[in-house]
This record gives sequence, C-alpha cells and structure tokens, in this order.
Amino acid sequence: MTVEMDKIVSLCKRRGIIFQNSEIYGGIGNTWDYGPIGVELKRNVKDAWWKSVVYERDDMEGLDAAILMNPTTWEASGHLESFTDPLVDCKKCKHRFKLDDINGDRCPDCGGELTEERSFNLMFKTFVGPVEDNASVTYLRPETAQGIFVNFLNVQKMMRRKIPFGIAQIGKSFRNEITPGNFTFRTREFEQMEIEYFVKPGTDEECYKRWVEERFNWYLDLGINKEHLRLRDHESNELAHYAKACVDVEYLFPMGWAELEGIANRGDFDLRQHSEHSGKDLCYFDEAAKDKYIPYVIEPSAGADRATLAFLIDAYREEKVKKEKRVVLAFKNCLAPIKAAVLPLLRNRPDIVETARSIAGDLRREFKAVYDDTASIGRLYRRQDEIGTPYCITVDVQSMDDHQATVRDRDSMQQVRIPIEGIKAYIKDCLAQEKLVEPAS
Ligand code: ATP
Repeated sequence: MTVEMDKIVSLCKRRGIIFQNSEIYGGIGNTWDYGPIGVELKRNVKDAWWKSVVYERDDMEGLDAAILMNPTTWEASGHLESFTDPLVDCKKCKHRFKLDDINGDRCPDCGGELTEERSFNLMFKTFVGPVEDNASVTYLRPETAQGIFVNFLNVQKMMRRKIPFGIAQIGKSFRNEITPGNFTFRTREFEQMEIEYFVKPGTDEECYKRWVEERFNWYLDLGINKEHLRLRDHESNELAHYAKACVDVEYLFPMGWAELEGIANRGDFDLRQHSEHSGKDLCYFDEAAKDKYIPYVIEPSAGADRATLAFLIDAYREEKVKKEKRVVLAFKNCLAPIKAAVLPLLRNRPDIVETARSIAGDLRREFKAVYDDTASIGRLYRRQDEIGTPYCITVDVQSMDDHQATVRDRDSMQQVRIPIEGIKAYIKDCLAQEKLVEPAS
C-alpha cells in the first residue's frame, strides 16, 4: 500500500514543495505551484529525463517549440475535430462530469437529473493580436508533440540526421480537463516530456519494443519500486484510429493504478497529415538507398508533473526513531532537491557559524547546498529528512579544535567525522555513487 495522498499534499505544503496556486484568492481549480523545494525536484526529474534521452544517446536531438502554433496545426493533427470528451451537467447541483465517470443516469453527487451529453473540446482557445475574431483564433497546445512534427524536416536537414533518429522536447501543455484532481496528477496546465522517434516503416515494431523497455527501466533506475510499476497494453478499442500499438507505463498511485507515460506506435499518421495540410513534402530521402518515404513514428510521451508526483510518493517513508515518528523522502541522490545542508550546532558561536557558512559556500559552487541555523539540531535534521536531503554536515565545538565536521546520512542516520577540507570531495563522491555514509572500518 502506498501513502495516502492527503499526507503527501500536506507534506508538500509544509515543506515548500507544492503550493495551491493563487491561494490568497481561494485558488483556481486544481492548479498548483512548485515552491522552492518542489522546483528543484521537478527540475531534477526533467534533467534526468533529458540526460537519459538526449545526452546519453547519439540518435537524438532536443527542441523547444512555442506553445502557440498556426491553428492549421490542430486541424491537421485531428485535435480540433476529435480532442473532445463527452460530458453531462447536473441540472440541480450544476456539477459537471465526464460521461465515462458516470454509472447510471443520475448525478453521483446529489442524485439530480443530468443534461444530455455534449462534446467538449479540451483545447484552450485564445486570440492572437488585438482583434478577437474568427481569423485570429488559436489554441494553447494540448501536447508538445505537434511542435516536433512541424519541425521534423528542419531538424533532420539542419542537423544532417539519418533515419532512425528522434527529437525530444520538454514543455507546457494545456487541457481544459473536465474532472481534474488527485493533486498534480491531472491538472489543466502541465508539463510534458515527449519524444518523437522517426524510423523506416517495417522497423517500427522492433523499435517500439525497445522504447517501451527503455522508458520502463528509466523509472526503475531512478528508484521507483518495481512492484509499483507496470505496463498496460491498450485494448484495440482504446487505440486511436491511426495508432498501431500503445502501452501505458502505470504507477500505483494512492488512488490506484494510473498512467505515468504512454508509448505509441503512430505509424505515418502525423507527418502524412501535416504534409497534406501544409502542401509541403515531409518525406525523408535516403540518399544511399535512393529510397523516399514518410517515416513511421514511435512516441514515448511522459508527464513531468506525474513523474514528479510518483517519485515523491514512492520516496515517502515513515519510521519510528526513539519512539518518535520520522518522515523521510528517500530520493535517489540525483533527484534530491537539496544535496547537502550545513548546520551549526550552536548559532551563537561566531566561529562555528563562520566555519559552517564557509563550508556551505564551498559546496554551493558544486551543487545545491544550504546553510540553516533556524532551529535546534534535532529539528533541522528532521526538516532535511522530510525534503530528502541525503547528507547533513554539522559543525560543533570540537570542530574548532580538530578541524573536522560530522557528516550524517539521511537513510541510515549513521555519522562520520571528516576533515573539513575534505568534505566537498567526500560528499561529491557519495552523491555520485549513491553511497551511504559509513564509519571508517
Ligand atoms: P489521461 O488518460 O490520464 O488523460 P492521456 O492518455 O490523455 O492521459 P497523453 O495524451 O498520452 O495522456 O499525454 C502523455 C502524458 O502527459 C500522460 O501520460 C501524462 O503523464 C501527461 N498528462 C496528460 N494529461 C495530463 C494532465 N491533465 N495533467 C497532468 N499530466 C498530464
């Protein structure tokens, strides 16, 4: 059983990880802001993804396309026509539901009568320029993928890429979801981490399998418990009409199994549509084989917010230490928002404070490190445990004589004394190797 969502929501608020958006005005339905600790966590998730799919491969390029696009894009992609949810309203309490979420013909909240179903396009409409007329309508992108498709030839030609190769992008997407909820799991504004991988038709199935395996392992490598992760193949009636195959990577969230990432074999649907609607030939020409074709596309499409939430939930631990509850976020080091905290045992001793500040300043040049003297040492440790800081360094009275400080491990709570001048190298080594702090044997 994973932790209840309420505990995660309250920890997130208490420790500056995630706040309700525009809270002082009562918020706006299911919109969240990442606080000082959360922004580091989410950046680390996105960096881990980028490192794995762009830097560590030689067949990928990055891209950062705009959110607003020529509206014909959405005609070509099919979003204008079919990116809709059928919904019903309750005539009595006015609550709105997805038809899929209703059992029977009455309102699940008050038992009232429901309206006829209506189609609801999930794209946010807006206007470009000063005149709000039909000619100036466009949309906030509901996925980042289309920015990649329309740049396929730019990237392929300018970067002199041969197929197979892929393009990766991280960016905001917007969907006017009817039933958002479960904290940051489903929101109207969210960030996606998407790959479009272009292959020769006929090689697509093999490549699809490789991406499924690679993406599944990415979550495991970053610390998700294997029992909390599974693959779910889409049934044929779930598949979009153009998709040859689709599988979801699902995580066992507190509300049950739910999608973290979808990996689809989209065939040549997208590039063919954009060729037809733009009148531009988006074929790939294989010089060596004198072969011309529209590539097939494998699309691993993940959500940065959902992944961040899953890493948070999976890292959550409650322990009993000396009869007291200890909450720990046991992140892998690369995801930990703060890598090291330097804490003076006595904040009224200028020599101790100065030494601690100087250690923190030195560490800060290498990674995210903080100095904190705002509470007693016990409380400071607890605070750092709750945000997942793997290493705490404490400067005490003895440090003034022996020029050593204590390094404490978040998970084992083991402590070792390390010469102050060697602390940076020691922590860097521990961070790189996911090492526990251990007393020298
Ligand atoms: P769902 O079935 O949960 O609505 P989807 O199948 O529509 O998701 P995709 O279009 O495949 O989602 O988007 C790819 C990824 O983007 C999802 O796996 C998810 O991680 C993320 N995502 C999609 N919609 C949202 C949302 N409303 N809030 C947060 N993340 C989202």
